[in-house]
Amino acid sequence: MPVKVGLQLYMSRVDPYLTRAADISIDIDGNVKELEAVQHEFLRRLLGLGPRSVNATLFTETGIQPIRTRRLDLALGRARYTAGISDERILRCAMRDGLDLWLQATPKPSWASNIANALCAQKPSSYGDQRSSDAALQAVVDTSVKCRLLRDRLELGNGTLEQVTRRRRHYLTMVLNPAHRKSLTRLYTSDHALSIEIQRYGDRNHREVPREMRLCRFCQLEVEDELHALLRCDGNEELVDLRMAFVKDVLMLDSSLRDCYQAGDPIQFLQLALASRRAVGRLARFAHEVLAVYATAPL
Ligand SMILES: [Zn+2]
Repeated sequence: MPVKVGLQLYMSRVDPYLTRAADISIDIDGNVKELEAVQHEFLRRLLGLGPRSVNATLFTETGIQPIRTRRLDLALGRARYTAGISDERILRCAMRDGLDLWLQATPKPSWASNIANALCAQKPSSYGDQRSSDAALQAVVDTSVKCRLLRDRLELGNGTLEQVTRRRRHYLTMVLNPAHRKSLTRLYTSDHALSIEIQRYGDRNHREVPREMRLCRFCQLEVEDELHALLRCDGNEELVDLRMAFVKDVLMLDSSLRDCYQAGDPIQFLQLALASRRAVGRLARFAHEVLAVYATAPL
């Protein structure tokens, strides 16, 4: 399913159920986790990601707001509306009663105290609006070892390039081949089958291995991560041929990438290649081909 269509379906057919009664029933218990599970599962299936992918990337790549803060925003919207209506309205009286109960020396349960408790439970700040929600998502991208290729991204905002934490990213709609799009998404969100990821976790098929020992299955010289697989490994002839063709094509498609490639900074090159509207389709095909080559050889 095209990502654009999937997100439209989500907002029209899933979001209404997940946000039902959010403005009057504040999430102070653990029930909201069930709603989060539904949201995460929908977005993971749409992007083609697995259960070990980083939750924050589901939102940074699609632009969707986490359901917990979205529900809290709706409750705050109702509080703002109630604060602006006439003192004679019953709804206004109910809010004042709720505030009185909350402000007692020993606060009593009420709608207002529930909102206060839900706000205090938000991270990283106690103010639970979209801005602090996005700051929490950006903090994950900036610190997670699985998100290094997604850092330092600049997007066109109000006429200038700026950091945008949540947005439906261009590659989700510009890469037309679904298999290529999913491979690119998996590679850049570190949800692939390279050693750096597979051997991060122990299971019945693979044992947990320290990072420096997750060596390339072809050359055994470096850690088998995204940079090594895409740009460095010389241990497989097919891989080398694919890389030569990719570099030739991508520099032809977008000559502005040439300086960065020749400077030898692989992370910046892959970040710029992802950002390039002219080269991203070729990058996605290359990512798909490289992951397919690695899938042919057992760990
Ligand atoms: Zn290698």
